Amino acid sequence: MGSGQVTDWQGRHVTVAGLGVSGIPAAKVLHARGASVTVVNDGDDARAREQAAELQALGITVRLGDGATLPEGTELVVTTPGWKPDKPLFAAARQAGLEIWGDVELAWRLRGPDAAPWLAVTGTNGKTTTVQMLASILKAAGLRTAAVGNIGVSLLDVVLGEEQYDVLAVELSSYQLHWAPSLRAHSAAVLNLAPDHLDWHGSMEAYAADKGRVYEGNRVACVYNAADKATEDLVREADVEEGCRAIGFTLGTPGPSQLGVVDGILVDRAFVENRQQNAQELAEVSDVNPPAPHNIANALAAAALARAFGVPAAAVRDGLRDFTPDAHRIAHVADVDGVAYVDDSKATNTHAAEASLAAYESIVWMAGGLAKGATFDELVAKSAKRLRGVVLFGRDRALIREALARHAPEVPVVDLDRTDTGAMLAAVQEARRLASAGDTVLLAPACASMDMFANYNKRGDAFAEAVRELGS
Ligand code: ADP
Repeated sequence: MGSGQVTDWQGRHVTVAGLGVSGIPAAKVLHARGASVTVVNDGDDARAREQAAELQALGITVRLGDGATLPEGTELVVTTPGWKPDKPLFAAARQAGLEIWGDVELAWRLRGPDAAPWLAVTGTNGKTTTVQMLASILKAAGLRTAAVGNIGVSLLDVVLGEEQYDVLAVELSSYQLHWAPSLRAHSAAVLNLAPDHLDWHGSMEAYAADKGRVYEGNRVACVYNAADKATEDLVREADVEEGCRAIGFTLGTPGPSQLGVVDGILVDRAFVENRQQNAQELAEVSDVNPPAPHNIANALAAAALARAFGVPAAAVRDGLRDFTPDAHRIAHVADVDGVAYVDDSKATNTHAAEASLAAYESIVWMAGGLAKGATFDELVAKSAKRLRGVVLFGRDRALIREALARHAPEVPVVDLDRTDTGAMLAAVQEARRLASAGDTVLLAPACASMDMFANYNKRGDAFAEAVRELGS
């Protein structure tokens, strides 16, 4: 199918892998363009049947209960990004020499000829925050833009919608990048790389390689984290357009072609005249909300992408000032008896929790849940001196308890062996008992939430509610 925009779909046999948030709209759009669409799905429950009936009424073929076999005559597979690459359906497609597109690739191929360029952001942690900061900066510069993609706004809807944009701030997950072979961003950033989703990708190398795809074909800037060599290596390995520059961000003093921090000021030594001698002041550290170290890094990455797009320095400052983080990301819930209660339920892996713990001096840490194959030694060893106490909950809490025994044996630990609806209140009460005035009780679980909660939002809500109960 080449790698350009595809306009002629008449009669093409497309298999859509997976019903659901991306599969259903993909099937509908391709069908509307004249393709002959078959949707295959593993599940065959009541919900799937309902969704299938809706698609069948439009003339789309749906096969439930078998997502493994490739339908006869398939010319292209469009997959739900979450489907694991080792599925037999994909092996069969590759064997037949077929392309496999995810939701992002489909949007990229269907975008119009005058479509807005993409400024893309990926990384293990900080993606959502960074694209939101970026969109805020672009808006402050008077550009028509939106934060889209993995953040929860479908790229397909955006590229096919009525609204006109000058530029898009696009969050991409490693799954989406895996299935987006021809995506070419204007500029892109990889914020950091730490082990996550390794069960899906198969290895750290495969995970990094998928993240690195975001740099492929960049035109203006590949933005990397100077403190994370793996991100810089990915830039070096990428095949980019002639003249595209490697731009680093650092929490220290920036070198030429970097953005960094000098005396509490965010400065740009990349997009300025005579960068050997000059630097441009962008904003103050206190303009970043919250001004925790990892979040300043996010702000610098967002600023780098905006500057690559030609945004003036004043818009970087205004955009950062206008930005407020989403719920459950280091959200200050309340102070009770001189103890601050902070909800970072979004810290669902060890790397995020480490950043969160680094932002406070004296912490009662609340952690646990589903470990997703992670180990906790490094996190605990690095954070040990800040811990005044730990409350553990959730299925894989023993893994954290063992790491604490190895690296922080003197820190008191409460191991909560319950998963009922009252468990969070009990956990918060234990945390209160361990905390003294001046401490921070920090929910940064380093684990996924689904053993006890529907998602990390619900976990954070339960925490906030429990804190309010303490205070009343
Ligand atoms: P993502 O979209 O990549 O999941 P978010 O912006 O939603 O990222 O933040 C997720 C979690 O990662 C938050 O809990 C936050 O504490 C942590 N985090 C945010 N930015 C960074 C960063 N640059 N490095 C490490 N951790 C981070």
